[in-house]
Amino acid sequence: MARTEPIKAVRGVRDILPAEMPLWRAAQQGAAEVGRRFGYEEIITPILEHAELIERVGEDTDAVAKELYRFDDRGGRNLALRPEATAGVVRAYFEGGLNQGPQPSRLYLFGPMFRYDRPQKGRYRQFFQFNVEAIGSAAAGLDAEVIELASEWLHQVGLQDLRLELNSIGDGKCRPAYLERLKAYYRPLKSQLHGDCQLRLERNPLRLLDCKVPQCQPFKADAPRITDHLCDECAAHWAAVRRLLEGAGIDISTTPTWCAASTTTRAPCSSSIRVAQKGNRTRWLREDAMTGWRKPRAGRRHRASDSRVAWIASPS
Ligand SMILES: [Zn+2]
Ligand SMILES: [Zn+2]
Repeated sequence: MARTEPIKAVRGVRDILPAEMPLWRAAQQGAAEVGRRFGYEEIITPILEHAELIERVGEDTDAVAKELYRFDDRGGRNLALRPEATAGVVRAYFEGGLNQGPQPSRLYLFGPMFRYDRPQKGRYRQFFQFNVEAIGSAAAGLDAEVIELASEWLHQVGLQDLRLELNSIGDGKCRPAYLERLKAYYRPLKSQLHGDCQLRLERNPLRLLDCKVPQCQPFKADAPRITDHLCDECAAHWAAVRRLLEGAGIDISTTPTWCAASTTTRAPCSSSIRVAQKGNRTRWLREDAMTGWRKPRAGRRHRASDSRVAWIASPS
C-alpha cells in the first residue's frame, strides 16, 4: 500500500527557504568578497572524499571519530561526506599541482559540511562553512592574515562586539611536556570528570579543556596553560601573531581555557582562535582556526594555515 503521510526532511538537516535566502546570500557573497580582497582564490572540492583521507587528517577529533558520515558506495569504496574542508583542500593542493606554483597558496571555499552530531537548536547535520587555507609558509603574518580575514567577514555579515580568543598549541618540541603537566594536574581529579573526559585524560588530554559538561568546568581555571610553557620559537610566533592582530585593531583575549581539538595532532607551531560574540556565542556562530604541518608526497614539509567559520544558525 502506498504511504500516505508526507515524507519529511532527513533528521538534522534543513531547508533554506526563499525568505532566508537574502541573509544566506549576504553571508556567502560577503565571504567571497572578503576572500578576494585578501588575495584568496576560490576552490570547490567534492563533498565526497575517501574516508581514509578524512581520518588521516583528523583522527582525534569528534568530527571524525564519532560524527563522520561514512558508507560504502555501490562499488564497495569506503567514502565519507566531508565534515570539514581542510582534508579535501590539502588533497587538491597536491593533486592539482598547486604546490608547484607560487607559495603560499591562498584558497577559500564556501560549502556544505556534514556531521552526524546530535541535532540541537542551531546545530544541523548539514551546515555551511567558509573555509580559508594559506598553505606553504610558516610566517606568523599568515596566521594573522587569516584571522583578520575572518574578523572582517564577521563584521561584514553584521556581527558586532566581537572578541578574539587567541591560543597556541605549541609544537613537537614543547607540547609533549605540556601534555604531561596537564595529565598530572587532572589525574587526581579523574573520578570527578564526566565519562568521556575520563577516557580523554590519557589519550587526548587537550580535549579536557574543550569540555562543556558542567561537572568538568570547576577544574579548568587552575589547569596549566600551554601559553606559559611554550618553547622560544613558539612563544615568539605567538607574540608576533598577537602584535600583528593588535596592530589591526582586533580585540584579543589571550587567556582562553580551551584548545581547538582538531589542532592537537600534527601542528608543530600553531595558533588557534575563536571569535565569540559577547553574550550570544554559540547560537550565532562557531569559529576556529588552526595551523598545521602536512606532509606532502615529495617529502618536503609545508605549513598549512587555515581558518574556518561554521555558520550554524541564522540570526532570528
Ligand atoms: Zn568533561
Ligand atoms: Zn614550541
